[in-house]
Amino acid sequence: MALVVLDPGHGGSDPGATNGGYQEKNFTLEIALKTRDYLLNNYHVDILMTRTTDTDVSLADRVALANNNGADYFVSIHINAGGGTGFESFIYDGSVSPNTVEWRRILHDAIMSRIGNSWDVYDRGKKRANFYVLRETAMSAVLTENLFIDTQQDLNKLTNSSFIADVARAHAEGIAQALSLSAKVPTAGSRH
Ligand SMILES: [Zn+2]
Repeated sequence: MALVVLDPGHGGSDPGATNGGYQEKNFTLEIALKTRDYLLNNYHVDILMTRTTDTDVSLADRVALANNNGADYFVSIHINAGGGTGFESFIYDGSVSPNTVEWRRILHDAIMSRIGNSWDVYDRGKKRANFYVLRETAMSAVLTENLFIDTQQDLNKLTNSSFIADVARAHAEGIAQALSLSAKVPTAGSRH
């Protein structure tokens, strides 16, 4: 069975980006936990989380969890800052496998198809960067930047539980599609 590592960015003493009392670390954890739950409820897949609570986890430990367990895919979830708007995704800007490129395309497009029109989220594009967790992971890895905490129209969505649920479901569906996860079918006993 495929093993996916979900990595909620920041945590503990590292809030990530902030806007007043709103902290990136809380949004990333909320999205990651809901992504995990949706995947486990609907697909045959194993999941490891780099954190499930508000704790400090070093970048090295996040990568080590994935590398030491032979994960198939590493998905790091973040919230953007800096005054822009919308969604973007990153893969490593050095040498990457064909799967890394293809799985990112599938995941990015799945996310935008669910939140683009229905939530009026701007597509900032498929990007590449020299981020630690993308560079040091031994398997395909992607990092998503889910809207801007310091842009009011984006923050309004991030504080909407329906939006968070949709973003999480979109991550789960994209991961499932990328890895060709088999869907769980209801057992006979659960039919009405
Ligand atoms: Zn971040």
